[in-house]
Amino acid sequence: MSRPTRALIDTQALSHNLETIRGLSNSARILAVVKANAYGHGIVQVSRALNGADAFGVARVDEARALRDAGFKRPVLMLEGFQDEGELAAVRELKLEAVLHHPDQLTLLDTIPGPPVRCWLKLDSGMHRLGFPLEDGREVFERLKGMAAVEQPVVLMSHLACADEPDNPMTREQLDAFDAVVSDLPGERSVANSAGLLAWSGSRHGWVRPGIALYGIAPFTDRVGADYDLKPAMTLESTLIAVNHVKQGEPVGYGATWRAPEDMVIGVAAIGYGDGYPWHAQSGTPVLVNGVRCELAGRVSMDMITMDLRNAPDASVGDPVVLWGRGLPVEEVARYCDTIAYTLVCGVTPRVAFVYQ
Ligand SMILES: *Cc1c(COP(=O)(O)O)cnc(C)c1O
Repeated sequence: MSRPTRALIDTQALSHNLETIRGLSNSARILAVVKANAYGHGIVQVSRALNGADAFGVARVDEARALRDAGFKRPVLMLEGFQDEGELAAVRELKLEAVLHHPDQLTLLDTIPGPPVRCWLKLDSGMHRLGFPLEDGREVFERLKGMAAVEQPVVLMSHLACADEPDNPMTREQLDAFDAVVSDLPGERSVANSAGLLAWSGSRHGWVRPGIALYGIAPFTDRVGADYDLKPAMTLESTLIAVNHVKQGEPVGYGATWRAPEDMVIGVAAIGYGDGYPWHAQSGTPVLVNGVRCELAGRVSMDMITMDLRNAPDASVGDPVVLWGRGLPVEEVARYCDTIAYTLVCGVTPRVAFVYQ
């Protein structure tokens, strides 16, 4: 028997989203970010669907290895570079590119012999997470120029902290500060994540680094992917396993947090936080039952959710339930769960069957 809880991955949506992003990015090249198992979608299958990308970005050696083992020849960038000798050896073995953000990485390159590595020099333009301070940027650039272990020229990159807030002046300040330091240096540039390339035309140059938008999801809290001609790549679905009648005032679920406002029908679907559907989803969170919008009623359990079926009174056991994806944007679901859509798609657990279409 097939498992009732499935994540359908629409590979055509992925290639469509890549084309949409290419259309927006002028002549910029596209580094498709497929870290965290391609945001929970499956790194190898997703990267195949995105084979039109110019390069791939990952966070961990094992992610890069999965791509090389599957036969990918395109450039693969380690977004946080290498942390120790073993990781540097893996970078060379797998012919990866590496972000350099810390002096210890330069020391490793100087002391561990091996072929030159193509490097992306990360400068901190104000986010204060990773990167050399902007004021040291030119000095580090000069030092890299003299290093035999560094392929020339390096790519100059930075990361935006607030690009998902189109009115926040910080993005312009970051872009200007970065440009002021690197404007006359040779080499390519890379600044934009999804929010940057969708909302800040000044960041769409050199290499763009979309992640979430490739999966059809908008990075802005008040928008959905469809607003940018992006299509959801993941549809999370399950089935109804029970349809029960409850009387007005009767509680439903753990904690008895929800009570029926009238005599009505409650549906039970075979999905819960053990599958990655968030425990934080509140009563009222939208779900689709037979394609009709209904609402969560009561707390999410490990294996089940309970739903108000007043909008779908004819639903019966075995009928499909969509938690997010086609017809129900995950961005919207995230708003009811006190989280962002990124965490929802990343959090689908291995118990769910992934089906590639
Ligand atoms: C994850 C990541 C991205 C992609 O961000 P999205 O918001 O998903 O587009 C881009 N650049 C870097 C350095 C990242 O770590």
